[in-house]
Amino acid sequence: MSQSMVAKHSMWPRQKDIIFNLSERAQRAEKSIGKDNVINATIGALMDDYGTLITMDTVYNEYKSLDNKDISAYASLEGQPDYLEAVKKVCFKEYMPDGYIKAVASPGGSGAIKLATWNYTEEGDQILTSDWFWSPYVSITEETGRKVSTYQLFDENNNFNFNSFKKEFLNIASKQERIFTILNTPAHNPTGYSVSDDEWDKIIGLSKEVATNQDKKIILFVDIAYIDFASDDNASRKFFKKFSNLPENILVIVGFSMSKGFTAYGMRMGAAICITASENVAEEFYYGCVHSCRANWSNCNRGAMKLLSNIVQDEEKFEKYTQEKTLYKEMLKRRAKVFVEEAEKVGLDILPYRDGFFVSIPCDNPREVCEELTKDNLYLVPLKAGLRFAVCAVNENKCKVSPSIIKNALQYI
Ligand code: PLP
Repeated sequence: MSQSMVAKHSMWPRQKDIIFNLSERAQRAEKSIGKDNVINATIGALMDDYGTLITMDTVYNEYKSLDNKDISAYASLEGQPDYLEAVKKVCFKEYMPDGYIKAVASPGGSGAIKLATWNYTEEGDQILTSDWFWSPYVSITEETGRKVSTYQLFDENNNFNFNSFKKEFLNIASKQERIFTILNTPAHNPTGYSVSDDEWDKIIGLSKEVATNQDKKIILFVDIAYIDFASDDNASRKFFKKFSNLPENILVIVGFSMSKGFTAYGMRMGAAICITASENVAEEFYYGCVHSCRANWSNCNRGAMKLLSNIVQDEEKFEKYTQEKTLYKEMLKRRAKVFVEEAEKVGLDILPYRDGFFVSIPCDNPREVCEELTKDNLYLVPLKAGLRFAVCAVNENKCKVSPSIIKNALQYI
């Protein structure tokens, strides 16, 4: 047997990331037969109608105008003060909850997930999320010995399955001191679902019930990576107000990311933001997270922080940015509408889509179906229980023709 050097806890299966693998194959196909003849719906980034990455002018013109020193110098471990203020402003807009709110900078939303899961769960703990979920939740948490467990996101009528949520939430509460839940809303990846305000009331109601036991610690992690592409910027933020004045043993942590909202995927900038009625809990959050920053990545991308604060603090720049973003949001909406309508027309079952970058199609044997679809030059991502189609990455025409191609492949498999 050949020598193995890596520590036991770092021995992972030698698999290539399936998404990148299919994405590479799609790109090869585009090169050999032309972009018009390939539908590459694997990519989790906003692409224009010709399949080129969208980079917002209002963002990159500002970035290129920065002084070199504002990009080059070290930043504060917790993030630059003006960045942290800008994050709160752009995250909550008119719906800033009451309470103690503290933000700590992180490398993207991924970094915020790491900060929250590491600092608010114990080794061996189960972390709750829906059965349709963004798979890095597992990689990020299993690295430190946590386990993701799931509830069913939808019931048989394709409504939010609060009963399943409640059952799993109570199950974890019966075994663990901490009940850590990840809710990726609005514009969930991969389904495009957004938790409604009524559903939020139920989730918070249940959390409050469990919180009457003072020994329980409830952490609601709200992953808002796609919030800037959800319906209207204000309506999609109303739920934040519900986090005001919660019991002290309920802590809300919001995972903020610049990746999608500012087309800044590679800049790796985000923040974890806590909301609590207790000053002590907020202080603890701050010191716990800053310690993790130092221990893992030190400080974050100073240029990206300056970029955000420059745009957000200047009314005119922010207005221009919002206008530009709105154009792309409208483009995304049109694509998704066409896909959803066409799916309905051809009788392709999809999960309830509300907002965002992706639509999901439940099916058996997702990998085989994806492989079959490559014969039609349609590339998408296989999930555990279905397929993910990236409406963010393909034009309206391709969104229109895809449902019937997928429907055919499903009949064939
Ligand atoms: N959460 C979800 C559901 C995502 O899909 C992503 C990115 O794809 C992220 C968080 C975090 O992204 P980033 O680390 O680039 O901010």
